[in-house]
Amino acid sequence: MRKKIVAGNWKMNTTVQEGIELAKGVNDKVSGSDVTVILCTPFVHLTEVKRQISKETLYLGAQNCSDHQSGAYTGEVSAAMVKSAGADYVILGHSERRSYYGETDSLLADKVKIVLENNLTPIFCVGEVLKEREAGKHFDVVKKQMNEGLFNLSAPEFSKIVIAYEPVWAIGTGKTATAEQAQEIHKVIRDHIAAKYGSEIAENTSVIYGGSCKPSNAKELFSNPDVDGGLIGGASLNADDFMGIVTAF
Ligand code: PEP
Repeated sequence: MRKKIVAGNWKMNTTVQEGIELAKGVNDKVSGSDVTVILCTPFVHLTEVKRQISKETLYLGAQNCSDHQSGAYTGEVSAAMVKSAGADYVILGHSERRSYYGETDSLLADKVKIVLENNLTPIFCVGEVLKEREAGKHFDVVKKQMNEGLFNLSAPEFSKIVIAYEPVWAIGTGKTATAEQAQEIHKVIRDHIAAKYGSEIAENTSVIYGGSCKPSNAKELFSNPDVDGGLIGGASLNADDFMGIVTAF
């Protein structure tokens, strides 16, 4: 059965000390339900945040990693480093990485491989910009991102992937996809997985939603049959708001 997941993407926010306090606040409130809760922190926070995590359903993640295993890549952070800091998850292909840092699906395919080789779970982001949705191209956009970023994986490899559907027009804008829009495209994503890897793998893949998710709209979004949780930006920076989303399941 697929996991219910709520992952917080802290982005480039909080000092290490603030991150410790935020993680403590979340850890205190996590109550061991069937929801997997993940804190995706800046790299330099990972080790310290790991020390604050004591609940069985609370996990650590990074927001990116290098497409190289190791070596002379000044300023980069490898998947092995992320793993050794205590993380289990890595966000890959966030729209901010795609648009500000030029990350392509082919680069992301390399990162996915390296992340899996290091026994980390990729949270692979897909999603269309507003122009693409207005032109009715949103299904084709996410399918292409999946084809090029993920569909070179073997079935056992793909079984380890989490997909985050994040309409770029909803990220940090206060505009949320409606529950109907989310369900519609999550079903397209699941059907696309089924066409490539079969219905059993598709049924077992968690597909989470991201884009201005808050305690007030989480319940409606998560009640859809193909929405398995959320990737949360702004609201993950406040322990009460974040846990309000977790408990919306
Ligand atoms: C995100 O950046 O992954 C995100 C979903 O941000 P927000 O919740 O702030 O829209």
